[in-house]
Amino acid sequence: MNLAIVGATGNVGREFIKVIEQRGFKYDDLRLFSSARSAGSCVVVNGKEFIVEELTEGAADGIDIALFSAGGDISKTFAPIFAEKGALVIDNSSAWRMDPAVPLVVPEVNPQDAKLHKGIIANPNCSTIQSVVALKPLQDAFGIKRVVFSTYQAVSGAGMAGITDLEQGLLGKPPANFKHPIAGNLIPQIDVFTDNGYTKEEMKMVLETRKIMGLPNLRVTATTVRVPVLNSHSVSMNVELESAFDMADVFKVLREGAGLVVQDDPASRLYPMPLNASGTDEVFVGRIRRDESVEFGLNLWCVADNIRKGAALNTVQIAELI
Ligand code: NAP
Repeated sequence: MNLAIVGATGNVGREFIKVIEQRGFKYDDLRLFSSARSAGSCVVVNGKEFIVEELTEGAADGIDIALFSAGGDISKTFAPIFAEKGALVIDNSSAWRMDPAVPLVVPEVNPQDAKLHKGIIANPNCSTIQSVVALKPLQDAFGIKRVVFSTYQAVSGAGMAGITDLEQGLLGKPPANFKHPIAGNLIPQIDVFTDNGYTKEEMKMVLETRKIMGLPNLRVTATTVRVPVLNSHSVSMNVELESAFDMADVFKVLREGAGLVVQDDPASRLYPMPLNASGTDEVFVGRIRRDESVEFGLNLWCVADNIRKGAALNTVQIAELI
């Protein structure tokens, strides 16, 4: 099995390599691709040195699985070239996510969809991945009528440039990536605005949640906010269930949920936090309580490492499924 990583020198690409090493993901040959900027640099994978190559059309020759994280434009151009030459592309960008012919997969939620691929599988948006991992057991046990997402998204979600903006901002320097300072601030805009007043990031959460969960009519709304946290996204979820529920049953199904860890003990101030989630594989949920403002309402606080479960880990899990 010949594996390629496209965008291997980026935030997500470097995490791909870590995840592959940690999980013992098997390959016969590995090739690493980037832009001309990083081509020629040396990267060690599983103790062996690899020279990063510039991405060209010829890169696709002989590749069986290609993990892409070099941005939407690169995916739009190169994913079809790789797929045409026989590779399976698992793509981290938003380029293919809403294409009806492309499965959008979170292995804990809709592994069956991966089998329907025609050469490209899309990895969902980071905030959506962690949210649907938490929603899946609730949907299975009680049914979900409506969801309100409010996100608190780390700067690592904006790549190396986002991290640099926070680090430099803390030293009093102006931002180079975000349109406003992020140090000591909150920015209620992630990605560009669309005609309905939502940002693209918010619409990704709405549309991708419906597609992954196979619930095209699910009522979903979202507000997505960039926060001055280095890594790991947090999502506040207000969920209206279809039927009456006992809190004990809610805790039970969440504790048994695939990929989920319940961290909820108010007496000992135990709840999920980004500092604790960073570097881990699980999705953490806590602050689990009844939403007393609606019938059958539930509030949850959900935290996960956006670079691992939100990107690299989920992609490698899809490759493992295949
Ligand atoms: P990043 O740190 O800025 O890395 C970008 C990578 O893409 C680098 O390896 C870069 O190579 C490569 N690249 C850029 N232009 C290229 C070109 N013309 N040809 C070939 N390679 C090129 O960004 P990131 O955070 O890893 O994100 C990458 C992608 O993953 C984006 O589509 C993002 O939306 C998606 N994603 C990110 C997250 C997240 O939380 N970070 C989550 C889900 C999805 P050079 O080193 O040569 O510049």
